[in-house]
Amino acid sequence: MNTQANELPVLVAGGGIGGLATALALARRGFAVKVFEQAPQIGEIGAGMQLGPNAFWAFDALGVGEAARSRAVYIDEMVMTDAIDEHPIGRVPTGEAFRQRFGNPYAVIHRADAHGSLLEGVQASERVGFHTATRIERIEQDANGVTTFDQHGQAHRGLALIGADGVKSVVRQQFVGDPARVTGHVVYRAVVDKADFPEDLRWNAASLWAGPNCHLVHYPLRGGEQYNVVVTFHSREAEEWGVRDGSKDEVLSYFQGICPKARQLIELPKSWKRWATADRDPVDRWSFGRVTLLGDAAHPTTQYMAQGACMAIEDAVTLGEALRVHANDIEKALDLYQRSRIARTARIVLSSREMGRIYHAKGVERLVRNDLWRGRSPERFYDAVEWLYGWRVDNCLAPH
Ligand SMILES: Cc1cc2nc3c(=O)[nH]c(=O)nc-3n(C[C@H](O)[C@H](O)[C@H](O)COP(=O)(O)OP(=O)(O)OC[C@H]3O[C@@H](n4cnc5c(N)ncnc54)[C@H](O)[C@@H]3O)c2cc1C
Repeated sequence: MNTQANELPVLVAGGGIGGLATALALARRGFAVKVFEQAPQIGEIGAGMQLGPNAFWAFDALGVGEAARSRAVYIDEMVMTDAIDEHPIGRVPTGEAFRQRFGNPYAVIHRADAHGSLLEGVQASERVGFHTATRIERIEQDANGVTTFDQHGQAHRGLALIGADGVKSVVRQQFVGDPARVTGHVVYRAVVDKADFPEDLRWNAASLWAGPNCHLVHYPLRGGEQYNVVVTFHSREAEEWGVRDGSKDEVLSYFQGICPKARQLIELPKSWKRWATADRDPVDRWSFGRVTLLGDAAHPTTQYMAQGACMAIEDAVTLGEALRVHANDIEKALDLYQRSRIARTARIVLSSREMGRIYHAKGVERLVRNDLWRGRSPERFYDAVEWLYGWRVDNCLAPH
C-alpha cells in the first residue's frame, strides 16, 4: 500500500479497458491516479467480446467481478464449423465441467458492459481523476518523476506513467519505436437485435465459421437480446492500419462459396465500417524507468485468440501486485511487472497468428484443419488451454 498521502499521482494514458483496469489496480494500492483520454468521453465501441475464466479472476482481483458477471452471457460451448460445407470442426463445452476445471466461466459480453463495470469501480474510488479530450503527445522523466505533455503543450507531473494508449500507442512510439505489422486482414463488426438475427443461428455459443481466407463469428449479448457479428477476410488491397468506411458489396465479394447458413450473417450489419488490423512483433522490454506499457500498447495482437482485453486486465492486476511487492520503488515494480508479463502476452500474439492461419485455411490445409480436433475429448481441449485459463492472482508474478 502506498502510504505517502502527498505523493504525486500515477499517470495513465488511455481510458480504454486497460487504462481503467490500471486505474482501479493503482487506486486499490493507495495511489492517486490521473487518467488521460484523447476522446471527449470515456467509452467503448458497440461490439462484443469474449471473456475467458482468466478475465473473471482478474475482474475479481479488481473488485468488479460481480458487476461483470451480472452483465455477461454464459455460453454452453465454443463451436467451430467449416463455412463451405458445414462440416463440424470443433466443439468445446463450457458448462459445469469447464467451470469446475478453471474456477470461472467462459462468457461473452458487450464491450460497453465490461468497460462500464470497470468504470463504476473507478468512479467509486476517490483517488482517480479523469482528463478527457486530452491526448498525451510527449514524455520526459527524471529521477523523481515523469512529465507528460498534452496536445495543448500543457505539462502533467506524476510519479510514473502507464501507457495504456492502445494499438497506436504514443508512449510505445517514443520508447520502443517499432513498426506495426499490418496483417491485411479486414474486420467488420456489428451488434444486431435479436429480432433481426436469424432464428437458426441463435445458438448459446461462441460460434465461428471458418472459410478460406475468411471467417465469421457470432454470439449472444445482453441476455440474448442482441447478437454480436464479426466478419473477417484477407483483403486484396494494400491495407493501411486504421478504420474507414466499407461496403456490403466489398464483403460479399470475399465470401463467395460460403454456405447459405453462414452467409446470412453478412446481410445483418447496417453500417459498414472496416478495421484493417495489425499487430507487432513481441518485444523483450517495455518498462523504461518510470514509464511502462500495458494492454494493446504493450502487446498488440490479432483478435484470433479473443484475449487482447483479457490480457490488458491481467496486466493491470499484475502491475498492482508488483507495486505491492515493491511499494516504495516504482522502477523495480515496473521491471517486475514486465518480467511477469512478457512471455505470456507474447505467447498470445504468436498463438493468435497461428490461430488465424487455422481459421483461414484453404486447399489441403483446410482438410488437415477439419481433421485436427476430430474425436478430441473436452478434457484434452481443457489441458491445451490450461496455461491460459489457469492464470491466478497468486501465481501472476515472476520470481522476485
Ligand atoms: C475484432 C476484434 C475482436 C476482439 N475480440 C476480443 C475478445 O473477444 N476478447 C478480448 O479479450 N479481446 C478482444 N479484442 C481485443 C481488445 O479489443 C483489445 O485488446 C482491448 O480493447 C485493448 O484495450 P486497451 O485499453 O489496451 O486499448 P484500447 O481499447 O485501444 O484503449 C486505448 C485508449 O487510449 C486512448 N488513447 C490513445 N492514444 C492516446 C493518447 N496519446 N493520449 C490519451 N489517450 C489515448 C484511446 O482513445 C482509447 O480510449 C478484439 C479486438 C478486435 C479488433
